[in-house]
Amino acid sequence: MEKIRWDRRSVQDVLQEFRISLDAGLNTEQVSENQKKYGWNQLKEANKKTFLSKVADQFKDFLILILLVASVVSFSIGEKTDAMIIVAIVIINAMLGLYQEGKAEKAIEALQKLAAPNANVIRNGVPISVPAEQLVPGDVVVLETGDIVPADLRLVESYNLQIEEASLTGESVASEKRAEDICEEDVSLADRKNMAYASTILTYGRGKGVVVSTGHDTEIGKIAEVIQGYEEESTPLQKKLARLGKQLGIIVLAVCVVVFVIGILQNLPMLDMFMTSVSLAVAAIPEGLPAIVTVVLSLGMGKMASKHAIVKKLPAVETLGTTTVICSDKTGTLTQNEMTVVKVFVDEHILDVEGEGYEADGRICHEKEEVDVETVPTLERLLEITLLANDAKLKRLENGKLGVMGDPTEGALITLANKWDMYSKDYEEAHPRKNELPFDSDRKMMTTFHENIGKNPVVSFTKGAPDVVLSRCSYWGKNNEIVELNEELREKISKVNQKFSKNALRVLALAYHSFEKMPEEITVDEIEKEMIFVGLVGMIDPARAEAKEAIKLCKHAGIIPVMITGDYKETAFAIGQQLGMVEDISQAMMGTELEQYNAEQMREIVKDKRVYARVSPEHKVKIVTALKENGNIVAMTGDGVNDALAIKKADIGIAMGITGTDVAKNTAEVILTDDNFASIVDAVQEGRIIYSNIKKFVSFLLSCNIGEILIVLVSILMKLPVPLLPIQLLWLNLVTDSFPALALGVEKGDEDIMNQPPRDPQEPILDKKTSIRITVQSIAITIATIGAYQYGLHHFTEHSLEGARTIAFVTLILAELLRSYSARSESHTVMSIGMFSNRALTLGTVFSLFMTLIVVYIPFMRTLFHTVFLGAEEWSRIIPFALIPFIVGETYKLFHKSTNRTQV
Ligand code: ATP
Repeated sequence: MEKIRWDRRSVQDVLQEFRISLDAGLNTEQVSENQKKYGWNQLKEANKKTFLSKVADQFKDFLILILLVASVVSFSIGEKTDAMIIVAIVIINAMLGLYQEGKAEKAIEALQKLAAPNANVIRNGVPISVPAEQLVPGDVVVLETGDIVPADLRLVESYNLQIEEASLTGESVASEKRAEDICEEDVSLADRKNMAYASTILTYGRGKGVVVSTGHDTEIGKIAEVIQGYEEESTPLQKKLARLGKQLGIIVLAVCVVVFVIGILQNLPMLDMFMTSVSLAVAAIPEGLPAIVTVVLSLGMGKMASKHAIVKKLPAVETLGTTTVICSDKTGTLTQNEMTVVKVFVDEHILDVEGEGYEADGRICHEKEEVDVETVPTLERLLEITLLANDAKLKRLENGKLGVMGDPTEGALITLANKWDMYSKDYEEAHPRKNELPFDSDRKMMTTFHENIGKNPVVSFTKGAPDVVLSRCSYWGKNNEIVELNEELREKISKVNQKFSKNALRVLALAYHSFEKMPEEITVDEIEKEMIFVGLVGMIDPARAEAKEAIKLCKHAGIIPVMITGDYKETAFAIGQQLGMVEDISQAMMGTELEQYNAEQMREIVKDKRVYARVSPEHKVKIVTALKENGNIVAMTGDGVNDALAIKKADIGIAMGITGTDVAKNTAEVILTDDNFASIVDAVQEGRIIYSNIKKFVSFLLSCNIGEILIVLVSILMKLPVPLLPIQLLWLNLVTDSFPALALGVEKGDEDIMNQPPRDPQEPILDKKTSIRITVQSIAITIATIGAYQYGLHHFTEHSLEGARTIAFVTLILAELLRSYSARSESHTVMSIGMFSNRALTLGTVFSLFMTLIVVYIPFMRTLFHTVFLGAEEWSRIIPFALIPFIVGETYKLFHKSTNRTQV
């Protein structure tokens, strides 16, 4: 696109250039035209591996290379079939590896799409949300506080707009933006006040902009030609396993050398012993563990996403499972965020409002009778404020119900006015907004400016948290007069506020201020002062039923749920009580109280507080820090721009998918697509299941591998011929073992997993219990296989060695397959969890069995694998031997006990 200096053009010029109007935006035809012309609004992804490099990666493993060298050696000295089979097995193994990697990659790509940002645009005259990558030049983008600018925009409307452009200019102080400015020739990028650049952050205010450049044409696109794709950060578990793999690898190699030396001392053929040792090393070194962990973690991410938690980084999947405290917002997370005004306090009367939801059905009553304007003369002014200091819209949804576009708190205020036959459209047309100080959760208020209201040329309307608004009011407008707000009157209002709050109502105060003309300086301190108080509204926001259940579950699981809210203490406590989070008001605390405590005192405070009210973003950081210092693993939700710090500080930062800002979503590790507390608990549960599954397959694979080593080592020590041929070992390990292992990774988890306390993140993957379990299992596998082998050696007269080896080979495979069923739960018997309830395992077992039968029953394969035909009699011996490890595993569970850990 030819580079036009849009900052030097007027707004009108820009609109003309793109043939659009501000209200209509582009039409569908223009969008597709521009999309063809300019492409997608995205940058190339870095480090995308080609298919060939992925294939090459599969062969990079040192052991696989040794194996290939070994097969070349055996080929050159005439052992052609064996050499070729080994190569074939290596290729099958590589294909399986590619398949698994592909699966993990797909899961992650799908998640990335889900987590990709959206942009609010006006197209065909309708405001809609589209994926940011679908923006085209000419699109009219609506910007709100907390948005990350999705493309380069020429601003066309701005209200107190401030944008932080550190990603582009390095300057971390937000700069003010003004749509009406027109820049001079020589201004630098940082001084172009009428432009908003892609990747910068709206820290305050709101506005609209027309997209002028997308993708690589944007300023950030020119600096960063590529975006970093998904970062493949190793998780602590992957690192631990890689280390463990290395340590075990060294031990295995040492044992293989011993096997080789003993074999030579026993005058066994050198080449045979060399092949046996190499195959044994390849089979028994658990080098593939971290790769399987990646697959299991990525699949787990997919599962969490289907339960409304999009996990952006692999390590978070693991951390979730160790969570000991969940700090959650209240509104919308623990409550339904479906507000209905039920009480109004005006002219010293408490009015009741009938009806539920956003429909205007219901009356505003005073002592059961519809209100009379004579007795409540200020009601109309109060409703005027609720309509005009309001950004929400009510809209009929597809299901026929009225819904809110915007903040439900504001939606409820529109409904309230509608019940008195006052409508936004009429008021907004008669008194359009001339300026505003937008709501922010630090200030807890918002103010708008309108002209010609009554006799006043300019009026500001303010609504916000009662304590904040009241502290900035000097008068009270009631019963057709304006009186000074003395202590006694303040006390009166406070009492009503408390009464509402104690009934779990969310309370807002409404006030106004008149001006002779539009003030020049629209700043908080200048404007929101000496206001005239008008009244209070109290709205219900029912607690989520599922949140109550989730809190119960948390308590069973040794996880402490904590509420951190911007709302009033009494309201927060009342909701907390309904949800079963708190019993006594002493467990609730105001955010401002925290300011007086130092770090050490904070560590004490957080031990028994469960509800923090009137909290500002800095308080959140203080709470997270103290909890973490006490050794907790903290999950923390957030939605606003200022929450980014607390989200970052928490072990698991969680952003709200519906109400959260781009900034919060960008910083968080987890995005909740339904903003629901219960989904956090589901994700924690899933995290626990994933970890326990990883542990299951690690201990399964290791016991199989150690078993194989022991079988060869013990037989050699017993001066028996080697029971498993190299190709059998490889076949067994690379082809038949991996399916059950993967299937264990997707086990649905023990039902009582949330009855156990959180796991200590420092806990080694091979703790004492797991190590003992692995030892017992590998010994059981060794005894079963050598027992069957001995039987085979005495049973067959002809082909006695090949027959005995076939029996050992089949027994070992069967023993491992059966044992995988027992490995499905560390504490519950397989019968109690349902033999076939893991479909992946059933399929994996059938496949592995099928592969085994091929090797035994297809004559051609028999020749290749040096096996013999097995009849019913042999099977009748193999099966009891193969059952040994399974029976041992199931019996072992009877001795299982869990360890405890609780914190806070
Ligand atoms: P949570 O932090 O649990 O989501 P919250 O929604 O009450 O709770 P904030 O959004 O930070 O937290 O709001 C803080 C306070 O500001 C509210 O208790 C209310 O009194 C006031 N408030 C909320 N929304 C608005 C609004 N749109 N306009 C004016 N004041 C508001």
